[in-house]
Amino acid sequence: MKPRVKLWDRYFELAMDEAQIQERVQQMARDMERDYLGKRPIFVTVLNGAIHFASDLTRNFKDKCDITFVKYSSYKGTKSTGTLQCSLGIQESIFGRHIILLEDIVDTGLTIAGIFEELSKQEPLSIRVATLLYKPKAMKHTIQPDYVGFEIENEFVVGYGMDYNGLGRNLPEIYKVSED
Ligand code: 5GP
Repeated sequence: MKPRVKLWDRYFELAMDEAQIQERVQQMARDMERDYLGKRPIFVTVLNGAIHFASDLTRNFKDKCDITFVKYSSYKGTKSTGTLQCSLGIQESIFGRHIILLEDIVDTGLTIAGIFEELSKQEPLSIRVATLLYKPKAMKHTIQPDYVGFEIENEFVVGYGMDYNGLGRNLPEIYKVSED
């Protein structure tokens, strides 16, 4: 039986272990180093969920870069509410810069589409989206992530920054909701 955790009323079973996640994040950092050689990109971390992804990815990115944060939310419990609210906008000037948006997970695409539109108003030179997890079957927007760690089924996951009503962000592994 797979290792499980209980958060509030739900059980979650192991989906990806720490070694698997770290290996993939390091590969993604290598890909970005190659694509952004000498370009000093700005990593825009989407709080709270992308904290660990951003931390591990940027520590493995061995070229010059900036790191900053934004905070938007659309989720309540295990469901997307369909509207996006900004509680921390970008503080730096991004005019003429290369942006890499760091997301924990792309589900319906509402969050990346909304943030992409907001950031575009400041006329950066480019914006690309990097997400650790992508649920292609849940996608409702035309925008596609440029860097994807893992594609997953349309199921609710926690751990490695992602929460279930506030719990589970500190887990180093990723777990998916289990039926019992
Ligand atoms: P989207 O806007 O693409 O529908 O959803 C993106 C945001 O919703 C993610 O940044 C994340 O905060 C949250 N989210 C989407 N799917 C999941 C999931 O399976 N688990 C958790 N914990 N959060 C999710």
